[in-house]
Amino acid sequence: MTTRRGFTTTILHADRLGKPEHGALHKPIHTSVTFGYDDVQDLVDIFQNKKKGYAYSRQGNPTVSALENKVTLMEHGMATIAFSTGMAAISSTIMALIKKGDHVIASSYLFGNTRSVFQTFMDMGLDFTFVDATSIDNVRNEIRDNTKMVFVETIANPATQIVDLEQIGDLCEEKGIIYMVDNTMTSPYIFKPVSVKASLVITSLTKYIGGHGNALGGSVTDTGLFNWANYANIFEGFKSQVKPEVLGMTQIRKKGLRDAGGTLSPEAAHSISVGSETLALRMERACTNAYSLATFFEGHPKIKKVYYPGLKSHPQHHIAKKLFLKFGGLMSIELDESIDCFAFLNKLKLVVKSSNLGDTRTLAIPVAHTIFNELGPVKRAEMGIPDSMIRLSIGIEDIDDLLHDFKVALG
Ligand SMILES: *Cc1c(COP(=O)(O)O)cnc(C)c1O
Repeated sequence: MTTRRGFTTTILHADRLGKPEHGALHKPIHTSVTFGYDDVQDLVDIFQNKKKGYAYSRQGNPTVSALENKVTLMEHGMATIAFSTGMAAISSTIMALIKKGDHVIASSYLFGNTRSVFQTFMDMGLDFTFVDATSIDNVRNEIRDNTKMVFVETIANPATQIVDLEQIGDLCEEKGIIYMVDNTMTSPYIFKPVSVKASLVITSLTKYIGGHGNALGGSVTDTGLFNWANYANIFEGFKSQVKPEVLGMTQIRKKGLRDAGGTLSPEAAHSISVGSETLALRMERACTNAYSLATFFEGHPKIKKVYYPGLKSHPQHHIAKKLFLKFGGLMSIELDESIDCFAFLNKLKLVVKSSNLGDTRTLAIPVAHTIFNELGPVKRAEMGIPDSMIRLSIGIEDIDDLLHDFKVALG
């Protein structure tokens, strides 16, 4: 019997165990676009999915595979496909799996660009319904004969709602529906969606996994739980070439990654791989910092509201406590009406006014004016986003410096 090594040990030694040349501890950056073979049969077999190997880097590259392997290990999944960005992972996966006439149920609490691309898919004829998925009944009531997928995020950005992750997993299993979970905000260190029966896990590698704000990337992981054998939209030709369990990944790699072309570069894959080695350490520190700041804000007279799953006042605190190892590094705050939001932000000297999250540095952004501006006031209200909301992505700085910066800015 083999025992599973710890989270960080596994990632640190993943490349080495694949025996890269010269005893290298990192998988080298392979910049070759194409791959040549002595026997043409090998090339043909790779094209026909009969053999593993590389043909053209748009759909697969050894350096990118090394990162895919790490994400699979982190998620306790079966296989992973990396993309150029988190958005490429989401849009390409939907394109590969959903056809006209199909229906998707999505949480109404979504990352703004995800909401925006789903609107684009609706304009192209796909059917989406948005529901308040913090209550399982809202999801159950929308299921129809043509419902193919339920899409949710673990901790919604920016208002930190947590949907009924476990019960939605049971429902999708019962109905044979794909359960797609965006795990960006939690990261596989604090939550593994396979534990709530997710079929596919989406992650923006740009955020916590890469962690340093120096490379874009995204991924989709197949947990191995969904039965692809009877899934209607799989390309007929694949069925005679590969085993039923890899049909989903074959469809996403070929119809999603290869055809839409949202390919991760080997250089970015290397940066993200190096970043991922310290995911657990960075998450521990960011979550501890976030908890300290959330308690500080909650007791401050100039703060009207704090959105953070670690606080007992958070409506889904019980779910976070049950399912997550830590409460995450993201929170939002609303200031008292007496303080001007822009003036407050401009008084921050250490915290950076910036739109990324999951960076090592603490970042702050006024939400309604920026990342959720395009959606307009009606959709923002549906998503639980007030105009005065400020989103904070807490980094790994020394906590006293962060507390000092916020204390001075609050006056
Ligand atoms: C940032 C983000 C994405 C998109 O990822 P990119 O790498 O920026 O394309 C998707 N989902 C969530 C929850 C995100 O925070």
